Amino acid sequence: MGAQQQQETNGKEAEEGGVGKRRKVDTDVTMDLDILDILDCPVCFLPLRPPIFQCTVGHAICSSCRDKLRDKCYLCSLPTAYNRCHMVEKVVESIKLACSNSSHGCTARITYYQKEEHEKGCQHAPCFCPETGCSFSGPTKVLLEHFLGEHDWWYGEKDLRYGKAYRIKTLLGVLGPTVLMGNDGRLFLVNMTMESLGGVISVCCVEPHIVGSRFKCRLALSCGEPSYSQTTEFLTSSTNLHDGFPKDCFLFLVPKVLLGDTGTNPTATVCVTLKPQ
Ligand SMILES: [Zn+2]
Ligand SMILES: [Zn+2]
Ligand SMILES: [Zn+2]
Ligand SMILES: [Zn+2]
Repeated sequence: MGAQQQQETNGKEAEEGGVGKRRKVDTDVTMDLDILDILDCPVCFLPLRPPIFQCTVGHAICSSCRDKLRDKCYLCSLPTAYNRCHMVEKVVESIKLACSNSSHGCTARITYYQKEEHEKGCQHAPCFCPETGCSFSGPTKVLLEHFLGEHDWWYGEKDLRYGKAYRIKTLLGVLGPTVLMGNDGRLFLVNMTMESLGGVISVCCVEPHIVGSRFKCRLALSCGEPSYSQTTEFLTSSTNLHDGFPKDCFLFLVPKVLLGDTGTNPTATVCVTLKPQ
């Protein structure tokens, strides 16, 4: 069958399309409307999601606004009985958008009204490099490579088992944070900065979505010269590092007397144990 003939056949089907026959329409459709605007409820401006209602004239509204404006239409101000608007429901169900994290590997196609919920929990959402002057961001796996490759941070443990103590080099002259990778793929950072009172160690779990504390951390510091030991247990904070290392988390103080001007002490060790709460 030639192209011309095929086209004619399609045209005929379209003309005849009636009950029980699906009309064939050219898929090259252009729209003058900003489609995303008409997918929002015109009263509360939130995305329309089924059930969607319409007044007797046809103005669409979301179900929670309908509950508030029961007998009067928001637009035509006429007394009305709202009915389900299955046509608009079909439209909002059928328009699928890419996740904003598609450039970070998310392949999900989401309806417009579920986009925000999806993105709040999307595992491809980026975390950020906390290094001053660096604007790199990416999923935790990519960020890990960046920490090790670009900043030379020390990879303390690649397969950390929860409940097991690991000795970290924070106090032994290794610059930059120590990176720990849990055996479930979770990324942790142990960071030490020098403050006026001494070294301040913080431990955080790097996650795209901040979920509160889920891990208990035990830090044990022991020093041979001068003789000193200190063990503390606290909850780690989770962070996407958007604002750098968290400042409102638990801070473990290493007294200044233990550290020289360089912030190191060759006789000091720090052991970290992480455990799900
Ligand atoms: Zn609404
Ligand atoms: Zn109306
Ligand atoms: Zn996603
Ligand atoms: Zn960086």
